Amino acid sequence: MGNNILQVIYLLASVSFIAGLKFLGNPATARKGNIYAAIGMTIAIFGTIFLYKGPDGQSLKNLPFIFGGLLVGTIIGWVAAKRVQMTAMPEMVSLFNGMGGACAMLISIIEFQHITSVIVSPTDINLFLTANSGGEKTGLLLTIITGLIIGSVSFSGSMIAWGKLSGKVKDKSFPLQQYLSIGLLLVILFFAYNVVGMRSEEFQTEFYLVLALALIYGVFFVMPIGGADMPVVISLLNSFTGVAAACGGFLYDNKVMLIGGILVGSAGTLLTIVMCNAMNRSLLNVLIGNFGGGSTAAAGSSSSVQGSIKEVTKSDAAILMKYAKKVVIVPGYGLAVAQAQHVVHELETLLEAEGVEVKYAIHPVAGRMPGHMNVLLAESNVSYDKLIEMEEINPEFATTDVVLVVGANDVVNPAAKTDPASPIFGMPILEVENAANVIVNKRSMKAGYAGIENELFYRPKTSMLFGDAKKALTELVSEIKSLQ
Ligand code: NDP
Repeated sequence: MGNNILQVIYLLASVSFIAGLKFLGNPATARKGNIYAAIGMTIAIFGTIFLYKGPDGQSLKNLPFIFGGLLVGTIIGWVAAKRVQMTAMPEMVSLFNGMGGACAMLISIIEFQHITSVIVSPTDINLFLTANSGGEKTGLLLTIITGLIIGSVSFSGSMIAWGKLSGKVKDKSFPLQQYLSIGLLLVILFFAYNVVGMRSEEFQTEFYLVLALALIYGVFFVMPIGGADMPVVISLLNSFTGVAAACGGFLYDNKVMLIGGILVGSAGTLLTIVMCNAMNRSLLNVLIGNFGGGSTAAAGSSSSVQGSIKEVTKSDAAILMKYAKKVVIVPGYGLAVAQAQHVVHELETLLEAEGVEVKYAIHPVAGRMPGHMNVLLAESNVSYDKLIEMEEINPEFATTDVVLVVGANDVVNPAAKTDPASPIFGMPILEVENAANVIVNKRSMKAGYAGIENELFYRPKTSMLFGDAKKALTELVSEIKSLQ
């Protein structure tokens, strides 16, 4: 009876995950989506704790440990999410993703120990291998080793991604990186093959070798990725965690864990494909770790930009924008750093009241996490229909009077089209230069995430409006108001 109720609870939880994911697809309903999915997860967890009965009819034991773990995890998660600055959100997402990978890795370790726990002496190993020579445990071991490899790569890779996003870890390529990565992967697969088939008495040692090598592979995989290519890797690691969790679902024959893992895995895979398309890269390049070019390539192309820049005063910028017919705002990472999303919305409202048509141009990798700009602007209630994706807005720049670039750099860098040595070469960009005037707001001439200079700042149509985005836009708003 208890297990039947539990199955209904799992069904409800699965439906809430799917509905949650659907709502997350639109900034207007994203908050609701998050709540739906969280409710689903809560009922799945408590349903399992109180209603699950094992094959022997026993309920879960060790309840004090389970509740202790839940309490500690909830407190850490709650405090971390409450305290995190909006700009540190991508790092937190990476860290949490890594924790998901670590869970899948630990599940595999525990379950491996579980099924081999009968082995206590060398004689036991032989008995165990003979008893299972018919392949009885092969399926189980295949699931365990898959969860172990994917979970470990996701864990160590996400930790490196976290370090990179927070500026603590620098891009680093190794000599013969690509060959080492492929070699390491082949060695992992070789040992995994031995473990699954229990091909030797050493299969237990080989299991832990797979664990260690997969952790190293995760570091190898993410470490050299530089330039502007991190978004693809972040979404790929995300999908890895989902697949690793789905392996746990198989292992425990737990439908809700399986469905949850598959949803994360497939959503992450779709996002990876979208990001690859946006960056104009192939997934194969990502998988073998020859990707991006890292800091070396960045350094190689950064010195070529020469020329002089011109500055614009706030009052001139105000006049230009107030009397424009059409203004397109390009938000970037600096908008998030400055927390200028509310004042940019105020500027938009003010210009519209003056009869100016205002739109936002959204580059798929602007900011530091997929959808960063959408989330940021939704926070200040910018209407969703004003956020125009790159492919749609690019043809519109030719009919735009003023483009205001706020804290964006790489996503408007023409080197992506003109400089084959650039680490962002081939990435589609927002073609702001086609507009009549370009005003760029940032604090200095410093580079963006890819670490390269931007020729756009030196072009004749461009004027620089230096200063912190929040302060500069607040002053711009006052200037426009004073013109009335
Ligand atoms: P960039 O990192 O290229 O540039 C941001 C610019 O903002 C900097 O040049 C900086 O210049 C300026 N800035 C910083 N703080 C402020 C401030 N307070 N006020 C005004 N300006 C400020 O950002 P983009 O959004 O153009 O591009 C995103 C980059 O991040 C891409 O290379 C992308 O690949 C990468 N990335 C994206 C991820 C994603 O999922 N979206 C994940 C990981 C990486 P200054 O210091 O002079 O002010």
